[in-house]
Amino acid sequence: MSEQRDEGFDEWMAAIDRGEGYALECPEGHGSLPPRRRCPECGDPDLERQPLPDGGSLDTFTRIHVATPEFADDAPYVVAIVDFGLVRLTGQLRDVEEPEVGMSVAVGVEERETKEEPLLVFRPA
Ligand SMILES: [Zn+2]
Repeated sequence: MSEQRDEGFDEWMAAIDRGEGYALECPEGHGSLPPRRRCPECGDPDLERQPLPDGGSLDTFTRIHVATPEFADDAPYVVAIVDFGLVRLTGQLRDVEEPEVGMSVAVGVEERETKEEPLLVFRPA
């Protein structure tokens, strides 16, 4: 997770929480996430919001058994990268005993155990 949080990012997390998640798309079809003023690939400032699909496809995952103190109470947990077409999102995968690449998951926002901070969470779709 990036620590570059600002209003654009918080607003985006709130949209995910409402089930209104979106990605930014430039005229060339490159996807990105807020906060962005320009496409990170081609620099085009004409970014349009595109709704995220209901489910994404599990791309990669890592099981974390020993976490940094910040996340100690969350461990063990699974960090996953999920492909939503335009963008790939990183978050915690919950309620899955044996994750499999390609499985379909939905994204939401929940709080971390350790810090009361919103966190992207994936669950089976
Ligand atoms: Zn672009």
